[in-house]
Amino acid sequence: MRLSDSPILERGYIFNPSHVLVTEPSLLFDPTVKPLEGMTEGSVLFVNSSKDMLLVPSRKVCLLHRDITGLALKYIGRDILSAAMGAVACKLSGLISLQSMVDSIEEELAELGLEPDVIEKNVQLAKECYSSVESVGLRGLSHRPSHKVVEVQYLGENGIPDLLSMGNTVLRKTGSWRVLTPIVSKDLCTACGICYTYCPEGCISVDEQGYPSINYDNCKGCMVCTIECPRKAIKIEREAPWS
Ligand code: SF4
Ligand code: SF4
Repeated sequence: MRLSDSPILERGYIFNPSHVLVTEPSLLFDPTVKPLEGMTEGSVLFVNSSKDMLLVPSRKVCLLHRDITGLALKYIGRDILSAAMGAVACKLSGLISLQSMVDSIEEELAELGLEPDVIEKNVQLAKECYSSVESVGLRGLSHRPSHKVVEVQYLGENGIPDLLSMGNTVLRKTGSWRVLTPIVSKDLCTACGICYTYCPEGCISVDEQGYPSINYDNCKGCMVCTIECPRKAIKIEREAPWS
């Protein structure tokens, strides 16, 4: 994150971040994304997860984690994390007060035209996220609470498609993004095929009887199928690995 008293016009890379916030834990192990690149000893890594990451020695960072997705589902019923992760960033920075954060969220969400009750839910979510972490401050400042120190490196080949290469989408397990899992209930399904038609990832196929089958390696959990199913035959479950 970038913080400044004056307007921030730079939109490029941050090469040596003091704080890194990772919204989706699978990104930690993605060799394409490399969210930990540039972190140095003493940098702060926050991961949206209720579990400690299994991270193998490479460099020492200050690791914190919270189940921000669980809080978002509790307050707003969806895994929309912008306000929540922003609140964590505000608190970790040690520079932004709770009231200042609340004022900013209300102002920005009002500008987007959201209803007052939706704004209020986001504010409540942000407040809990803000209070759920300690202020760590900026690198170089003396105040540094004794958070767990771990050593990290990249593992594995799962993750996002490499947009600069041709034809590799099927090789990449975009299902690693998924937070919510769609599950077809055959008892309710009428084999109408609507979910197959609407899935934007093309990862629903139909069997010989016309019933849908979801390829979970590539289903990214957008929930379009659950919305479009006229029989409400696709239930939603929280993804397990990091919950
Ligand atoms: S849209 Fe619903 S009812 Fe139709 S095939 Fe898909 S799951 Fe079954
Ligand atoms: S959640 Fe999205 S990607 Fe997954 S099967 Fe449904 S429509 Fe396709």
